[in-house]
Amino acid sequence: MRHMKYWICVAAVFLLFKNLSAQTTHEDKKATIAHFFNQSLTNAPIPAHLHDLTKQIGHRISGSPQAEAAVHWIKMQLEALRPDSVYLQAVNIPVWKRGPKEKAFIQTAGHSLQQMQVLALGGSVATKGTLRAEVVEVKSWAELSALPADKVKGKFVFYNRAMDPTKIDPFEAYLEAVDQRSIGAIEAAKKGAVGALVRSLTLAKDYYPHTGAMQYANGISKIPAAALGTRSADLLSQKLKDNPTLRFSLEMHCSTLPAIVSNNVIAEITGAEFPDEFITIGAHIDSWDVGEGASDDATGIVQTIEALRLFKTLASKPKRSIRFIFYMNEESGAHGGSKYASAARENEEKHLASIESDAGGFQPVGFRIDGDPQPVDQITAYSSLLSQYGMGRILPKHRGVDIVAMKDLSKVLLSLDCESHRLFDIHHSELDTLDKLNYREVTLGAVAMTVMAFLISEYGL
Ligand SMILES: [Zn+2]
Repeated sequence: MRHMKYWICVAAVFLLFKNLSAQTTHEDKKATIAHFFNQSLTNAPIPAHLHDLTKQIGHRISGSPQAEAAVHWIKMQLEALRPDSVYLQAVNIPVWKRGPKEKAFIQTAGHSLQQMQVLALGGSVATKGTLRAEVVEVKSWAELSALPADKVKGKFVFYNRAMDPTKIDPFEAYLEAVDQRSIGAIEAAKKGAVGALVRSLTLAKDYYPHTGAMQYANGISKIPAAALGTRSADLLSQKLKDNPTLRFSLEMHCSTLPAIVSNNVIAEITGAEFPDEFITIGAHIDSWDVGEGASDDATGIVQTIEALRLFKTLASKPKRSIRFIFYMNEESGAHGGSKYASAARENEEKHLASIESDAGGFQPVGFRIDGDPQPVDQITAYSSLLSQYGMGRILPKHRGVDIVAMKDLSKVLLSLDCESHRLFDIHHSELDTLDKLNYREVTLGAVAMTVMAFLISEYGL
């Protein structure tokens, strides 16, 4: 009996110490997280970095001199922070050029011309002079497929399905409507249309067209495709009601050039205890060729650089290796993301988590995640340490296009989740400029990614 009491006593003391030490490490983590926030909110060079990227370099479409300038600029910033390595990873990328500004008019019989602002969709073919044709409006795929071929042949198909304003998350409304931009030209061409006009993917009511990637399919003729601002789309719709045989004139000079070699930029801090286990934080270098690519994705670039800077402020190295990846060519094929994943597969690297920031520069609220239930549960538990900062929300379905290729290679895919009510007002348009960003919100996003990577590095998955 006395023996038993002794052992119970020993076990109790052991448990007490175990709890105390767990609590101490937990307190350490909390202190490190507070350090990241304090350090970044007082010292982050985010305003200067954003200014360099958006005002000095400007928009950075894949294959442009600006995109190459951004590669060099990023490499220089990373080298100055002295991680264990900084290197370029060659990527083959397609090159598409807009050429001289597009021209578009509505022409009604016997009436004057009404000018329209349009933007060619990324990857579109040119019009070969002025393309003038009647317009048939549709608001759903069902409407298009119900139209007899002779009602479509030789005309523009005008996709006028608006993003659903009742969706509380505008990102969801965007994802629901984006198919008319991505495959609209294919479906219209199948029915003999000569062009596709697409209502811009925004909830804002204005005349700014929003571009974005589109696709063609083998064996189906490639027809020109352009975006119209939402007010222009409403105007065209109204004019078609008044005059169903009005003609739309479109002139576009865009072209696809031979593919070239560009680069991803990668920096690494090698882990102190598990150097062969990787956690990545990243964003994309390229943007569209209008505006300044501020929110999409200069924000992610400066946040990823800041994450590296924050890790370098710690007295000791992280337990696991952290890679900071700047992907080339997210906007037109995500070739940079695919290249990184194929290299990781070839080298049989073990990736615990792939994190991306590509959800705009607005207030971060947490993360979107995909993965098996157990690591997702662990991440959800870690996120409680971000909750007191208002960034602990974990929701399913990540939104990082560059990390998609890591699906079977990484235990979890995480994208920084931000408030998105203003994002689609500016997304892929002339309006995506530095003045729309708030440095504090961008900085907080950098810290959220740093904290998440730090906790995964410390506790593993
Ligand atoms: Zn983006």
